[in-house]
Amino acid sequence: MPGTSRDTAALEVHQFPCLEDNYGYLLRDAATGITAAIDTPDATAIRRELERLGWRLDFILNTHHHGDHAGGNLELKERTGCRIVGSRADAARIPGLDLGLGEGDVFELGTRRVRVVETPGHTLGHIAWIFDADGVAFVGDTLFAMGCGRLFEGTPAQMWHSLGKLAALPAATRVYCAHEYTQKNARFALTLEPGNAALVARAAAVDRLRDQGLPTVPTTIGEERATNPFLRPDSAGIQATLGLAGADPVTVFAEMRQRRNTF
Ligand code: ZN
Ligand code: FE
Repeated sequence: MPGTSRDTAALEVHQFPCLEDNYGYLLRDAATGITAAIDTPDATAIRRELERLGWRLDFILNTHHHGDHAGGNLELKERTGCRIVGSRADAARIPGLDLGLGEGDVFELGTRRVRVVETPGHTLGHIAWIFDADGVAFVGDTLFAMGCGRLFEGTPAQMWHSLGKLAALPAATRVYCAHEYTQKNARFALTLEPGNAALVARAAAVDRLRDQGLPTVPTTIGEERATNPFLRPDSAGIQATLGLAGADPVTVFAEMRQRRNTF
């Protein structure tokens, strides 16, 4: 897909594909022209997009330390002089980190305020970046459209708690996840909850988008609450599929995550 830009009145979001299935994101505070990259999947692609937009990079906001998220940090810092902001807990693993933040901290990107939410599970230091006033969330590899990240470091209980924080955001919040995994996530979700009409309709819509080479990201918190099985362990349909009627959410979540690993 070509890069796409979205003008919210105050925070511009430019989205473009990187690597196999990552998305790169460049943000700009319209009032001041201050910019940020959410993660650095591919320094070359990010530099190309900056040049195309005529933006200079002021900050990198990392979600976690994995190479497809922080691998371009040092090259971009070297080339642009930008400052790198990320999880304080991951100071030792995020290349070039200048400022470490934690739960509830607010960072000012020009006139825009972005809040840190700690979301351990995929990695222990994973964070999400929430622009509350703009209704925008960058969630890295924690929440995907109809899916969630693999548990490389955290426990199912930790990830379930992290997802709960994101699910509690306003329904209209636009959710920018780091990968285009939606089509496979939808196929998996349908195995768990084939009777969910919203899910059936969304899976068909996703197929149409992908047939045209279009992104399925961003999604919204409202859409995810309605269709993402990992936010729905209380669904009677999902519990019945898994033979876990009446089980607690963490048990159901853990079973779904396990099955998804080999789907
Ligand atoms: Zn990752
Ligand atoms: Fe990733």
